[in-house]
Amino acid sequence: MTTLQQLGKVTSTDILIIGGGIAGISAAIAAKEASPEAGVVVVEKATSGWAGQANKGAGVFSYMAKEDSVDEFIKYHVENIGIYLEDQELLRQYAAESYATLERFDTWSGGRMCRDSSGDFTHERFYPWVPWSLTAAELDMLLPIHRRAKKLGVEFIDKTTVVDLLTDAGRAVGAVGFSLLDGTFHIVKAKAIVIATAGQAYRLLGMWSCQRGDGQAAAYRAGAEMRNAEFGPMLQLAGTRSKEAVLAAETALYNRKWEFLSPSFRSERDSDSGSMTGVVWYQQWKAGNGPLYTMHSHNWLLNNTVKHVGSNEVWNRPKAVAFWTRLLEKTQAADGYLAVQEVIPVLMVEHTPIKTDHSHATTVPGLYAVGASAYAGSSMIGAICPPHRQRGSGLFNAVWSGIRGANAAVAYAAKAGEPRADAGQAEAIKHRVFAPLGKSAGIHPLELVSEVQAAFNPVGYSTYKSKDRMEEALGRILDIRAKTPELAASDHHHLSACNEVVSMCLSAEMFYRSSLERKESRGWHVREDYPDRDDKNWLKWISMKDEKGEMVLSAEDVPLERFPFKPAGFEGRKP
Ligand SMILES: Cc1cc2nc3c(=O)[nH]c(=O)nc-3n(C[C@H](O)[C@H](O)[C@H](O)COP(=O)(O)OP(=O)(O)OC[C@H]3O[C@@H](n4cnc5c(N)ncnc54)[C@H](O)[C@@H]3O)c2cc1C
Repeated sequence: MTTLQQLGKVTSTDILIIGGGIAGISAAIAAKEASPEAGVVVVEKATSGWAGQANKGAGVFSYMAKEDSVDEFIKYHVENIGIYLEDQELLRQYAAESYATLERFDTWSGGRMCRDSSGDFTHERFYPWVPWSLTAAELDMLLPIHRRAKKLGVEFIDKTTVVDLLTDAGRAVGAVGFSLLDGTFHIVKAKAIVIATAGQAYRLLGMWSCQRGDGQAAAYRAGAEMRNAEFGPMLQLAGTRSKEAVLAAETALYNRKWEFLSPSFRSERDSDSGSMTGVVWYQQWKAGNGPLYTMHSHNWLLNNTVKHVGSNEVWNRPKAVAFWTRLLEKTQAADGYLAVQEVIPVLMVEHTPIKTDHSHATTVPGLYAVGASAYAGSSMIGAICPPHRQRGSGLFNAVWSGIRGANAAVAYAAKAGEPRADAGQAEAIKHRVFAPLGKSAGIHPLELVSEVQAAFNPVGYSTYKSKDRMEEALGRILDIRAKTPELAASDHHHLSACNEVVSMCLSAEMFYRSSLERKESRGWHVREDYPDRDDKNWLKWISMKDEKGEMVLSAEDVPLERFPFKPAGFEGRKP
């Protein structure tokens, strides 16, 4: 009988964290602070400290400043952002714990957060009417927290991609993956596992593309439920040549006839771009009114908040300002420095459906999911794709949920028995995952990546949905999945891409099946065939799980009776 040691390099630990971005490193530090003697291992596909999205230009954190009201925040959120699909209890904890969480993060980062002369976080609002604040940290904030984690004794295994979880009688007991450098097969046994691999972004935009859905695919195959999988794509308007988003372009949008479109689909109290931007773009082109243009002088956000915080005037972040200034210069050069600019939609996807409870536990014992990996699946944010409509919430959620998930994982590991990893299971995964390697002929993984993108990217498929178009797109995805056994890889990077294509097909299948199920329009889920919000039938969360190879869907009522803010007609629902 084959042993684990014969299959590859075996590591044993108490807590395994998969993904070394901001959520993964935060979870690792929190685990060590909660239990210094616990073994903590982080496996990261790229290089921890540099990997993930948080240093690709990010740095703005949303939080509740001392003068902000948690109640006002939740009320605004349910009415304008998540449209009553929020878990209001979790959202309250998120908001109420925000200040203290950022204080803790700042000690980890060696004071990278921006502060004013009184020592408070320097803060701004995105728009004056949104009831939360934004503060910021310098672009290189991951480097000091990575150093801190190492100092606390966290072990990092970099350049290694995790492909699947190991289970024992339904409990998660480890994970397997391989080195991108030399193909070493890694088997990590752990008492508790935290997924921090972010979501699925289909490699559509470079800076977001480390999100390739591996974590959710591994969790799904291990039996974990997914939730709110119909939310994920969000659309922004961008320059035609640069393909870089023009922030708030939809607030100053005109068609070819110079009709001002924005008032027809935007509310005056909007917090950010919304789903109707794509719908309007689609309808205008169909009506022969394209192209669409944006006029910068009418863009309040660009001329106020962005101008202000994009310099060192408010936040002292020289590295971040240099990065964004350079990007803006390149963008403007490509698009022609125009005051009136043609815009096209660009899809940014954050498909993050791993279902978690208030302790960030998944439905598989021993398995936790934090950061972007479970942002929609936690149900905290409702009918949106994170972190849009609440900018700055991506980073904050990563740190906050990382800490909470780690605490829960540490508590679980303290009581859990030794993990029993089955060599047979690990061997079967190794056999499956390594199959494309060394084939003399076959399909290149990037060919299938392009095909998946073509079945997801069009506005008419994933942003403005209809039964017919979604069935067509789903059919294309299933056809691509059927071709995955023909994938061939010439090296371990392409082998990783083969696994990612499988993950992409699975994410897209979840998205379309869940979207077909929700027969209404709400938030970022807009259906041409069901254009109205239907509170009577669809104040529900849709979940899905694998049952003997079938994706089985179910729906649960949002427990509005427990929540303070209810839509019209539900006021009477009390605990
Ligand atoms: C350009 C840009 C600007 C942004 N600006 C802001 C901002 O100002 N404010 C804000 O709140 N949010 C911002 N965001 C979003 C924010 O950065 C993310 O929400 C946040 O980084 C999510 O953290 P995470 O750790 O969950 O995921 P990530 O940062 O994506 O980290 C996930 C990690 O998992 C690793 N991984 C993936 N698959 C595997 C695997 N199979 N095995 C091992 N490792 C794996 C990845 O390599 C990655 O390092 C921005 C994002 C981008 C791209």
